[in-house]
Amino acid sequence: MIAERVSRLGTETAFLVSAEAAAFAAQGNKVYPFHLGDMNLPTPSNVLEAGIKAMRDGHTNYCPNAGVARLREVLADDISASRKVAYSMENVAIQPGGKPTISKFFLTMMNPGDEVLYPNPGYPIYESQIEFHGGKAVPYGYIESEDNFEIDTDMLAAQITPRTKLLVLNDLQNPTGAECSDQELARIAELVLKHDLYVLCDEAYFDIRYAGKSKSLVALPGMRERCVILHTFSKKFAMTGWRLGATIGPKEIIDVIIKLNVNEESCSNHFVQYAAIEGLTGDQTETLQLLDTLKERRDTTVDLLNSIEGIGCIRPNATFYLWPNVTGAMQKTGLTDYNDFRQTVLKETGVSFCTRLHFGRPLEGEQNYYIRMAYSGIDIPEIKEGLAKFKKFLAG
Ligand code: PLP
Repeated sequence: MIAERVSRLGTETAFLVSAEAAAFAAQGNKVYPFHLGDMNLPTPSNVLEAGIKAMRDGHTNYCPNAGVARLREVLADDISASRKVAYSMENVAIQPGGKPTISKFFLTMMNPGDEVLYPNPGYPIYESQIEFHGGKAVPYGYIESEDNFEIDTDMLAAQITPRTKLLVLNDLQNPTGAECSDQELARIAELVLKHDLYVLCDEAYFDIRYAGKSKSLVALPGMRERCVILHTFSKKFAMTGWRLGATIGPKEIIDVIIKLNVNEESCSNHFVQYAAIEGLTGDQTETLQLLDTLKERRDTTVDLLNSIEGIGCIRPNATFYLWPNVTGAMQKTGLTDYNDFRQTVLKETGVSFCTRLHFGRPLEGEQNYYIRMAYSGIDIPEIKEGLAKFKKFLAG
């Protein structure tokens, strides 16, 4: 009854963790939700009001397949300024979220049997969509350094074959919080040119940063024509449930993506696009306050995690994820299985998190154990209370 390709469709197993945490809470237990990639912060009020006004103004019908012209213009300006690369509205296709860019990119760029390099640990939808559309997903890993996770560019280079066509780069990464150095970006650009690759630059977290400035691969020589950017309004404006994002890239690619829009959803929500215009062009006070809140949560979480024996946690400058190394802590509990560890901690303390297993199959030779703690959906008093219980549990 069901088509053969569906056997290759993956999922986000992190949603199963949410379901387990919800079931545990329904039994009357307190849960500390570090598993959520969602946000418990309100959309800035000026953005919200612009969306409501647009509805009242009657923007409740279809709009152009590529998106509202004014939004495409202001987004092209925003991306051009932040990436230091010139884009215009014809390089922008508005999408119902960041995620749709992933499947549309593969549908546009990948032939069956093509090999695609993707990050592992990484956002699980890449592997799912590559395999679903008949490609071969080839993982590359990360190496922990003193204050960052670096792409294992030697491994990445070694995986390239004559069949390799595409690369997925999630700089400012989910789940590790990793950020590419200039050297990493230069090495990747060199490999892309040498092997004639095209790149999906998933920049969902480009604007979620607390110090320094985000950089994009597209700014390097020769990259603008080879990169397609996944953009989303979900994170910067706390709009995860509004569903709005965009694909940005060379016009020939964007024209195909717009045709896919026609086929898949006709257009993204019309009135929501006016909220995004306000987000990009209006008052930034509340939008910037979101970052202040997230930064405080990051520091509280990192400091408390690092006070626990057996846990080491890097403090990333971007994203709202942490990827603590829990090898020592797991050893202390005697639990060697990720799921046992996660479920035992939930049961004993209410602290809920995802593990390495939710972000791809562990690669050969991996020796350390990691969990992912997201602080986008939990307030500081809960962070403190939950991690105090976690610490007490691990102290035995
Ligand atoms: N890419 C990455 C790396 C993500 O973490 C997410 C969401 O968590 C997305 C894309 C999808 O974003 P959206 O919720 O806007 O579809």
